[in-house]
Amino acid sequence: MAEEKELILLIEDEPQMRRFLRITLESQGYRLVEAATAREGLMQAATRNPDVVLLDLGLPDLDGLEVTGKLREWTQTPIIVISAREQEHDKVRTLDAGADDYLTKPFNAGELLARIRVALRHAALRNTDAGEPVFTLHNLRVDMGERRVFVGDEEVHLTPLEYKLLTTLIRHAGKVITHRQLLREVWGPAYVDEVQYLRVYMTQLRHKLEADPTRPRFLMNEPGIGYRLKYDPEG
Ligand code: CA
Repeated sequence: MAEEKELILLIEDEPQMRRFLRITLESQGYRLVEAATAREGLMQAATRNPDVVLLDLGLPDLDGLEVTGKLREWTQTPIIVISAREQEHDKVRTLDAGADDYLTKPFNAGELLARIRVALRHAALRNTDAGEPVFTLHNLRVDMGERRVFVGDEEVHLTPLEYKLLTTLIRHAGKVITHRQLLREVWGPAYVDEVQYLRVYMTQLRHKLEADPTRPRFLMNEPGIGYRLKYDPEG
C-alpha cells in the first residue's frame, strides 16, 4: 500500500494561483484541501488538521496576520505565507506572529516544494523533540554537545554570541527568521530593534565559516526581512 502523503491546506482566493499550486502539489502526491477565503480556511484547518498551511496574504475577508494569530492559538502546524511584492510589511509582521516561512509571487514549483519539505521536517523534529547533537552542512560541522565548531578539519573559535547566533540559525535551519526574532532569541527582548548588531555578527560569522564571505553559500541574507541558514535536506 502506498504511504499516505501529508495533507496541505491551501488558503488562496485567486483561482489561477490555486490551480498552479494544486497541479504542483498533487504531482508530488500531497493531499490537498482548498479554501478561497480566510474564514473557510480557518474552518478547514480546525476540521482537517493539515500538516502544512499555505496562506495567501491578500485574502478578501481577514488579513494574514489575523489568520496566523488565530491558527497559533491552537496549532503549531507550519504556516508558509504566499505574498505579493507590495505586501512586504505584512509579510514580516506575519512571520513575527508565528508564520514559518514565505514565498513571494512569482515563485517556481521547485522553490515551493523545497520550502514544504523543510517545514515538514521541522514539524517532525519538533514532534519527536530529538534535535541532532551534531549538525553538518557543506564542510561546516557543529557539535552542539561539545560546543565546538569545525570547518573541514580546522576548529573555528566563535565568541559566545557568534555561537548563539549560529545555533539559533541551525535550530531554524532552512527557514527564514526575521530580524526581530533573531535579536530576541540571541540578545533578548530589549534588543529587537538593534538590526545593526545582526549585520556586524553575521559578517563575522561569514568570515569565520564561509569560503567566500562576500558570496555566502549558507548564511543567507533575506533583504528587509531577516536571515536564513540555507538548508534543504533533499537537495
Ligand atoms: Ca490573493
